[in-house]
Amino acid sequence: MFDKILIANRGEIALRVIRACREMGIKSVAVHSTADADAMHVRMADEAVCIGPPPGTESYLNMAALIAACEITGAQAIHPGYGFLSENANFVQIIEDHDLTFIGPTAEHIRVMGDKITAKDTMKALGVPCVPGSDGGVPDLESALKIGEEFGYPVIIKATAGGGGKGMKVAGSAEEMKSAFQTARAEGKSNFGNDEVYIEKYLTTPRHIEIQVFGDGKGNAVHLGERDCSLQRRHQKVFEEAPGPAISPEERAAIGKVCADACANINYIGAGTIEFLYEKGEFYFIEMNTRLQVEHPVTEAIFGVDLVREQIRVAEGMPMSFTQDDLEINGHSIEVRINAERLPNFTPCPGRISQYHAPGGLGVRMDSALYDGYTIPPFYDSLIGKLIVHGRDRPEALARLNRALGELIVDGVDTTVPLFHALLAEDDIHTGNYNIHWLEHWLETNL
Ligand code: ADP
Repeated sequence: MFDKILIANRGEIALRVIRACREMGIKSVAVHSTADADAMHVRMADEAVCIGPPPGTESYLNMAALIAACEITGAQAIHPGYGFLSENANFVQIIEDHDLTFIGPTAEHIRVMGDKITAKDTMKALGVPCVPGSDGGVPDLESALKIGEEFGYPVIIKATAGGGGKGMKVAGSAEEMKSAFQTARAEGKSNFGNDEVYIEKYLTTPRHIEIQVFGDGKGNAVHLGERDCSLQRRHQKVFEEAPGPAISPEERAAIGKVCADACANINYIGAGTIEFLYEKGEFYFIEMNTRLQVEHPVTEAIFGVDLVREQIRVAEGMPMSFTQDDLEINGHSIEVRINAERLPNFTPCPGRISQYHAPGGLGVRMDSALYDGYTIPPFYDSLIGKLIVHGRDRPEALARLNRALGELIVDGVDTTVPLFHALLAEDDIHTGNYNIHWLEHWLETNL
């Protein structure tokens, strides 16, 4: 059993992990850059260690400093949160070489799923349905044009190492292929140090549906249904919900079983998300994220489980605390991502929070590291809070979201809250009638 866990992250997700540790009687160690000396995760943890100057590359991504912080504090395990080093196989290897435990999957699973081509090949072999496209990497423009012809336009060119919506370009025709192909390669190279790309049929009206999976590393795995994350801006999620309004219980059970079986088969350990595009009743695998996702709380709400607690349990070698049969959906949950950004261009808006008031009441959860007088530093992600609501059904969850948004006060910086007020006035949001392109179209005409 762990007595002390180091959290290699900041912001709301660091608080999320500290809270789980405290409930389990485990001490927590926060790490922080010099820019985060006053951050809430530093105040809330049992101990804190400064690991470097403000830029992420010199602090939250500094593996040597993180390992040293474990050695100084006697932490036995590291929880990576999401982002930063959460999907870095080398980091996992280094942690293990120091006789520490990484709270997450094995280096091997991270490596396989981190490369989108090997991920797709692995999933295909495990019986998971995939988006039709190139067989592996596409070396040059000539081969790209051949694939475009074979599958028919539009196609999407994707960097195999890509993530966070970067390194993806759509080509609507052979004429557009040249620049799309080169841009995707260049973005792959500059953002991820790898210019390999592959090509998929571009689906024009899909929803983004992702399945939450969880394994114990010993051949047992379950699924916790789906999240619908179709409302996206620049391939980035802004509004997520569970269960998905377009998914039937039969579809959920079928695709959930395929995913759980795939994870059981590879002895997957911990939390994972298998992402699909869903169109006309068919699921198409796009990628697997081998970590806790930002939007995990909507799943926690409808199943009544604590996914971070489960991650810690299985990392300690304990069994999961539930079986597939124990997992029953209760009601409906929605999360909105509150970013410190100025509309209409979503420009980051760091600065001092003059007043912060979190909404509360039945079925409301606010995961945020904000406090009155806090200054949001300009060096990191603009996510400053996640508002999660839970209701008996979707209409109740939407009404609760509207009510909770009205109670939230974040003064001093611009946020994405006005976007959600505006979205809640749209019929399509209430009927659930949207696909992954809906929000981009809406933003063009409404902001
Ligand atoms: P990232 O790793 O950058 O998040 P993903 O592969 O998960 O990239 O894709 C992110 C989003 O990009 C999807 O949710 C979807 O909106 C869009 N997308 C990806 N692949 C396709 C495709 N074949 N057709 C249409 N849209 C796609």
